[in-house]
Amino acid sequence: MFPLTHVFVAEQVLGQSNELQTIGAIFPDTALIFGLNWHHTHCLGEELFFFIKENQPELIPFALGALTHGANPKGLDYYGDECYGLKKEERGYCFQKALPIINEVQKACNLPAKFSWWKAHNFIEMAIEIKLANRSPWLKSQIEASIEKYGKDELLNTTLNNFYSRYFSDVAFDLSVLHHFITADQINSFSLSKLYSEQLWYKHQIEGVNKKEVERIIDFSATLVEGDFNSFLTTVIAKIKEMISEYK
Ligand SMILES: [Zn+2]
Repeated sequence: MFPLTHVFVAEQVLGQSNELQTIGAIFPDTALIFGLNWHHTHCLGEELFFFIKENQPELIPFALGALTHGANPKGLDYYGDECYGLKKEERGYCFQKALPIINEVQKACNLPAKFSWWKAHNFIEMAIEIKLANRSPWLKSQIEASIEKYGKDELLNTTLNNFYSRYFSDVAFDLSVLHHFITADQINSFSLSKLYSEQLWYKHQIEGVNKKEVERIIDFSATLVEGDFNSFLTTVIAKIKEMISEYK
């Protein structure tokens, strides 16, 4: 999911909002920047929580925010990406919803076929992100304020260095880079098509993206989620609340 969606879900799950929790909720998607992989930031939430609890308990809201984001234990990305519904093979909500747009996304983004379903699910995520940005416009400034306050925080960055140095010897966190994940403009299909094509270049060196087409498919994706994205969010917020109760 995209940042606003993660912050919204973290607030609903934890029943409050604060800057540490907000930056924790968006942190897992920075893995690549710090030389980590998806598994390190999405599947070690429990270890990170206990590490922080033991060493820097004042940072617990960060760990809780990250737990609501991850895939194991089951946070929002589990239900959005991995599995939503009864059958494991059905994948998460965003992958299921992306089935009708796979071919157009592949063409618009100039993608190799093996990337197309994976990248198409991002369009569903962007459509949800825009809906939340319209509904709760303050989420974006909340994220900006949390990066401003904690991006360069020495205690937080050092604690993450200490935790991840168990896996890599040369990690060096600077969470102020999180601002790359937030568009400077208002969040809509135009600004996200620009941000998304930049990310395709940064992550995969993919060029030749048709931004106008990307914008159109994001708008079309909004019609695909219209009927049930609210019930998806309500259902998973309840499930994540249950998961997080073991840590609070
Ligand atoms: Zn994620």
